[in-house]
Amino acid sequence: MSTANGHDFYGHSKYFIDNFSEFEKNYGVRGNFESLYYKYPTSEERWAYLSKHGTLMFDTPPGQTYLDLYKLIKDKNYFIISTNQDMQFSKLFPDEKICLPQGDAHWFQCGNPCHDEVYYAEEMLRNMADNIVDTRIPTELIPKCPVCGGEMEPWIRSYVLLEGGLWKEGIKRYQTFLNENSHKKVVFIELGVGRMTPNIIKYPFSQMTYNWQNAFLVRINQGEAPTPMLKNKSITMDADIAQVLHDLTSHM
Ligand SMILES: [Zn+2]
Repeated sequence: MSTANGHDFYGHSKYFIDNFSEFEKNYGVRGNFESLYYKYPTSEERWAYLSKHGTLMFDTPPGQTYLDLYKLIKDKNYFIISTNQDMQFSKLFPDEKICLPQGDAHWFQCGNPCHDEVYYAEEMLRNMADNIVDTRIPTELIPKCPVCGGEMEPWIRSYVLLEGGLWKEGIKRYQTFLNENSHKKVVFIELGVGRMTPNIIKYPFSQMTYNWQNAFLVRINQGEAPTPMLKNKSITMDADIAQVLHDLTSHM
C-alpha cells in the first residue's frame, strides 16, 4: 500500500534518500526498516532516527492508494487489519474500524516494559526531531517511563511490544467484525501482504475464504503467486496496487 505511493519502507527509495541520507552516511543503513532495527552505538543516535522518522510519519499526508481505497469502501460494511506501522490508515479511517496487531507508531510504551500503558508520542517526537544535531539528540530529551524511569520504546513490533489493553481492544474489534459477518457475502481484499508475517493476514484470509460459504478473496501484490486451493473463490492480481485501486475508482 505505502510502497505503491513511493513510501517504500524496505528499499533504498527516493523517500529514504531525500530524508535520511545523514543516517546512511553515518551508519551505512539503506532503508527505513533497516534503520528502525539498526543497533545504534548510543540511545541519542537511535532516538535521532526514531524521532525524525516518527515526525515525518505524523506529517506525511495520506497517499493516493489510501485515498482511493477510502473512496471505494467508505460506504460499505468494512474492517481493516494491517501490519503497516506508518500511520497511513489512521489518517483516513476511524480507529474503531482498524486493527493494528504490529502496534501503532502514534504511541510510546515503557521499554522494560514495567506497566501496560501507552503514551501519545507526537509532542516528544517533535521535540526530539527539532533538536537533532548531526544524527544525535540531547541526552535529556530521551523519553523516559514515568513509572520506572527506563527508556521508552515506540509501540511497534519488537520483543517488548505491549500486547495488553490497547492491543487486545484492536483484536477484539476485528474478531467481533468477523463473527458478525461470517455468514454474509464477504470479500477479503489483501493488498501488498508479503511473506514476512503470513500468520497475521495471509493464512487467515485463505482459511476463512475456504471455510466461509459466501466469501471471496482478492489478492493484489506485485510478484504474487496464485492460490490454487481457492481457484473458484479467489482472484490473484500480480499488479501495481496504486494502478488497480485508481482504475476501480473510475468505475464508481
Ligand atoms: Zn517502566
